[in-house]
Amino acid sequence: MSPDQILAELAAKRTSDLPTHGGQTLAYVYDSGLGEADEVAKQAIAMYAATNGLDPTAFPSLLSMESELISFARSILHADDQVIGTVTSGGTESILLAVQTARDAAKVNRPAIVTPSTIHAAFAKAAHYFGVELVTVPVGVNHRADVAAMTRVIDELGERVVLIAASAPSYAHGVIDPITELAAVARVRGLRFHVDGCIGGWVLPWMEEVPAWDFAVPGVTSLSVDLHKYAYTPKGVSLLLHANPQLRRPQFFAHANWPGYTMLNSTTQSTKSGGPLAAAWAVVNLIGSDGYRELVSQTVDATAAVARGIEAIDHLHLVEQPETSLVVLGADDTLDVFTLSDLMLDRGWFVQPQMQFAGEPANLHLTLCAATAESVPQFLSALAESVTEAVARGPIQIDPLLAQAAASLDPETLDDEAFDGLLAIAGLAGEGGKVQAPERLGQVNALLDVASPEVREALLIAFLDRLTR
Ligand SMILES: *Cc1c(COP(=O)(O)O)cnc(C)c1O
Repeated sequence: MSPDQILAELAAKRTSDLPTHGGQTLAYVYDSGLGEADEVAKQAIAMYAATNGLDPTAFPSLLSMESELISFARSILHADDQVIGTVTSGGTESILLAVQTARDAAKVNRPAIVTPSTIHAAFAKAAHYFGVELVTVPVGVNHRADVAAMTRVIDELGERVVLIAASAPSYAHGVIDPITELAAVARVRGLRFHVDGCIGGWVLPWMEEVPAWDFAVPGVTSLSVDLHKYAYTPKGVSLLLHANPQLRRPQFFAHANWPGYTMLNSTTQSTKSGGPLAAAWAVVNLIGSDGYRELVSQTVDATAAVARGIEAIDHLHLVEQPETSLVVLGADDTLDVFTLSDLMLDRGWFVQPQMQFAGEPANLHLTLCAATAESVPQFLSALAESVTEAVARGPIQIDPLLAQAAASLDPETLDDEAFDGLLAIAGLAGEGGKVQAPERLGQVNALLDVASPEVREALLIAFLDRLTR
């Protein structure tokens, strides 16, 4: 293919994706609305695409950009001069490393992490990868961590606890856990305490009147914040900070006992492009603290306007009062939130369904960013229209027998053929078992919603497996 053909083909492939810009995709992507920031990021990523973060002595440019980003982060996160940090590829990697580091520092049998039930799924992944037990404690009022209940669990587990973690704010409900209280619990017991600021860590520093949540709180030993969210940098950049170098030490890996170069890594990746780091450095320096203050103020105002708008629409309610830039909305039983999300997509708005959990019904999650601010009225009118249409359609009906089967199946007992059958019933596979992502997800989501979490996981893994064969 010629370069022209290739670029045309790449552009053609992109047309089936959700839009990344314009502020109408309210999950996955973050748009500052600043064309200049996107432009400088693209140039930086191209300039550094072929550099290799494997060896910071071979590419000192990368080391200096990493240090400068960490310095900036320290200045906004009330960090003292002991706080150090590492640039990682994303929130998940920051969390994986925080868990691995805590596990390796503690050297105990049957290590455990204690978190509220709302902690991000990345902690479950870390627990799974590193042989640590994730012990989640149901949240208390307003979806915030229940400090007393967590303390009881921590004391029951005793020496097994290698890490306590909580969110600022949580992804699902957008609320800030009682960080000061939990940090105190950790501190008096000499335990590590991680604050997951992946989504809020680049918003909270510029908000007025937020509870203390960062290194200003005694007892916070590590903190993660994603730059590829609200720092509006291209994907592939997060920060993991530790309160001092001793706490971070087990994060590093070296291996000399083979015939090649001595491998020396600060993160899970070895060879890694310097592109995302350079782009992050570029965007953070372009926007700067005053720029972020302005973007945060637009976003928080937009969030408040969206929240007021939702409360004014019949049949909808806020599941929580938003504390930052995240909104979670529920509907009464005259309509289905899954129908509502399909109808919003028809109108150009992607909103993210969240399945029922711990006795709470399914709801919709909105991640607002600066670029959404100017189209709040359009969003709210699309939402009002969609609600009217969803009420007219009524709730999605699932065959009660199917619902019962989905709730009680044991995925362990199913073979490949059974999964083929189930995927077809769920609407995720067509002729000859070929999987497809249906245009309208309402029906599929409604069925997944009544399935147990275990069945849901197994079905979606079967789906992904076939999708990627
Ligand atoms: C996004 C997010 C993560 C995971 O980050 P990725 O960048 O998707 O790997 C972890 N915690 C919270 C609170 C998040 O919002």
